[in-house]
Amino acid sequence: MSRAETPEAPEIQVRGLHKAFGDNEVLKGIDLEIRRGEVVCVIGPSGSGKSTLLRCVNLLEEPTKGQVFVGGTELTDPDVDIDAVRRRIGMVFQQFNLFPHLTVTENLTLPQRRVLRRDKATAAKVAAENLERVGLAEKADAYPSSLSGGQQQRVAIARSLAMGPEVMLFDEPTSALDPELVGDVLAVMRMLATEGMTMMVVTHEMTFAREVADRVVFMDGGVIVEDGTPEQVIGSPRHERTRHFLSRLL
Ligand code: ADP
Ligand code: MG
Repeated sequence: MSRAETPEAPEIQVRGLHKAFGDNEVLKGIDLEIRRGEVVCVIGPSGSGKSTLLRCVNLLEEPTKGQVFVGGTELTDPDVDIDAVRRRIGMVFQQFNLFPHLTVTENLTLPQRRVLRRDKATAAKVAAENLERVGLAEKADAYPSSLSGGQQQRVAIARSLAMGPEVMLFDEPTSALDPELVGDVLAVMRMLATEGMTMMVVTHEMTFAREVADRVVFMDGGVIVEDGTPEQVIGSPRHERTRHFLSRLL
C-alpha cells in the first residue's frame, strides 16, 4: 500500500522504524505521526538518534525496517520516485552549506533551475520573495562570506522555502551560531510555524520548544521516551530520563 487511506492522514507518519549502522542499532522502533501544520520539536541527548530519525524522514538514510510516509506517499516503497518526494521536503542543517562562490540570489535560484526546471525569471522572482520573507532582501547580491552565521542560516532557510516544500525538517539549525544570532533564525522559524508550515525541529532551544511547538518528543537511546505537549514533556516530564536530560540543560 503506497497511498494513505484517508484524506486526514498525517503529513508525516513513521511506523516501526529501525535503523542500524552495522551492529549499532541507532533507531529501535520509532512510531510518530505529525499532522499538517503541526510543529514538533525533537529533543534528547547527543547520540540518541535525532539526526538519524530526521534523515530517515527524507530517506537521506535508508531505514533498516519500518515505513515512512510523507503527504500520504510511502517513501519506503521500493517503487517510489524518491526525487519527486524529496522535492516536497525541505531540510535545514546545523551547517548552512551555501555555495561560497555564488551570491545569495544565485544560491536560491540554482536548485530551483536544476531541480524544478524553473526559468531564470521565475527562479529570480521566487528567490526575491523568499529573501524578503526571511528579512534579507538587501543581501540579494552579497556573497555568503560577507554575512553573519545567522544571516547565512536565514539564506539557507530561504533557499529551502524557494523550492515550495510541504514539510520542513530542521536539524539543530541554531547550534552553530553565536548566541546573539540565534534569535533572528528562531524568529523566521516562528513565522513559518504561524503560517502553518508542517515542521519537525531537532533543537536544544527549550524556550522555542515551549512557545512554538505543538508537541515535544523526547528521544533517548533510539526510542521515543515521551511524546506530548510542551507543558507535559518539558513542564512536567513523566520519565526519569526526561527529567535528567532537562535538568542538565538548565
Ligand atoms: P543525535 O543526532 O541524537 O546526536 P545521531 O542520529 O547523529 O544522534 O547518531 C546516533 C548514533 O548513530 C550515534 O552513535 C552515531 O555514531 C551513529 N551514526 C549516525 N550516523 C552514522 C553513520 N552514517 N554511520 C555510522 N554510524 C552513524
Ligand atoms: Mg544530531
